[in-house]
Amino acid sequence: MKTDIFHVTGFGKVAPWVDLANSKEWNGFGKLTDHLTNPRWLATFLKHWNLHPLSSKDIPRRKLVQLRILLRRAAEKLAVGGSLGARELSNLNQALNVPGRQKLVQDQNGFRVEMVPVQSDWSWVIAQIAASLGEMLATREVERIKVCANPDCRWVFYDPTKARTKRWCHDRTCGNRARVRRARAAQKRKA
Ligand SMILES: [Zn+2]
Repeated sequence: MKTDIFHVTGFGKVAPWVDLANSKEWNGFGKLTDHLTNPRWLATFLKHWNLHPLSSKDIPRRKLVQLRILLRRAAEKLAVGGSLGARELSNLNQALNVPGRQKLVQDQNGFRVEMVPVQSDWSWVIAQIAASLGEMLATREVERIKVCANPDCRWVFYDPTKARTKRWCHDRTCGNRARVRRARAAQKRKA
């Protein structure tokens, strides 16, 4: 099996909304990759999160990009302890505004009630991505939503550490880079 850039680069870990927010990815050295323009990335993203648009054609790129901007803005605000503005809330609710119905499901884990789409179209997919942010805000610790402190990276992540002190997406890359930078600056000051 070919390794795909989706899993290798750290997608698919937290929630669909985090992946979409990070799909415009800065590599830490100022290089930008827009994964939304990569059909394989998009297909893996949808499959990983069990999102099944009826058709893989007619991808509403503009809507996805709009949602990405909204999610990114939300993450940047929440990461510094802010809250969402009325505009963001209204835009999120607009994305969520697609008809669904409830369905009782029984499997090896017991019973659960699921929301299923009236129509499995792209609007439903977009609503599911927006809903994943809504669910996180409503059920998990908002303070754990962070943006990597490396200004050339800005990767959105969920801080799992007990003390909630994680500053970088990865200590070995961005964290290390910051340490090296600090050490160099300190050396310069001494010289
Ligand atoms: Zn980073």
